[in-house]
Amino acid sequence: MLTVTFLGTGAACPSIERNVAALALAREGETLLFDCGEGTQRQMMRYGVSFAFREIFFTHYHADHMLGVTGLMRTMGLQDRTLPVTLYGPRGAARILGAAISLGIERNRFPIDIVELQAGDRIRRDEYDVVVFPTDHRPDTVGYALAEHTRPGRFHPDRARELGVPEGPLWGRLHKGETVELPDGRRVGPEDLVGTPRRGRSVVYTGDTRPSLGVVEAARGADLLIHDSTFSEEERARAEETGHSTAAQAAEMAREAGARRLVLTHISPRYTRDAPELLAEAKAVFPESVVARDGLTIDVPFAD
Ligand SMILES: [Zn+2]
Ligand SMILES: [Zn+2]
Repeated sequence: MLTVTFLGTGAACPSIERNVAALALAREGETLLFDCGEGTQRQMMRYGVSFAFREIFFTHYHADHMLGVTGLMRTMGLQDRTLPVTLYGPRGAARILGAAISLGIERNRFPIDIVELQAGDRIRRDEYDVVVFPTDHRPDTVGYALAEHTRPGRFHPDRARELGVPEGPLWGRLHKGETVELPDGRRVGPEDLVGTPRRGRSVVYTGDTRPSLGVVEAARGADLLIHDSTFSEEERARAEETGHSTAAQAAEMAREAGARRLVLTHISPRYTRDAPELLAEAKAVFPESVVARDGLTIDVPFAD
């Protein structure tokens, strides 16, 4: 299971229809948060996102992406949390996030680590990597790609039985790619029983950005690209000036990257909840586009 829940989809300041930036990614029982605008904790309660997460990844430190961390940490302290939390972010994390988490209390009741990252870093996990890529918003702003590792191909139990491989540990070793020796001395290799390796899923979140080559590279073949779409083409100059993208530009990035699906987020308060003009603009370039709204949850299935 891999799902993304949009906790806040508005740009700059909260409105009645949209809270500011935050999203939760749930993968095989683990929750990761990306950005944490003001009021994120209440959005988590509203949309059923677990407080048992261990990490928040910040794209940058504009207020609409980080003011929520103070209250969220306070609430978790009041809930007698003991699990540690790690806050990741680009340059400035120690100073800015350090200040944000020390407001309003004498001491934190659970461990909070702050880790500074830079574009090009890769956090390696057992089943996926979190890849940090450059964005074009301000100096040192980054986006994140969660890229699952390639999985072994499908194991064919019928063929294993036909070949006389006894069910049990040998099946597991074959599935992992080992050649095994059977009790009767015959050797059987994975090529006889296991299909071709299957590509892992990938989800890419840009945070705030102008159209950028860094995004295209990070989103190459991505299952889901979540892209800044603050404005429409009518405001293209304004987008350029403020370091954001239009819906059409976001769609161009998705098309260039060969992504499967695009979600437009970080929507200016000037647009209505459904933002039909942004949707039409994006779909004209990249048909598999949707406009995010708060509470939207998207499943990311395997391509095969
Ligand atoms: Zn923003
Ligand atoms: Zn920003």
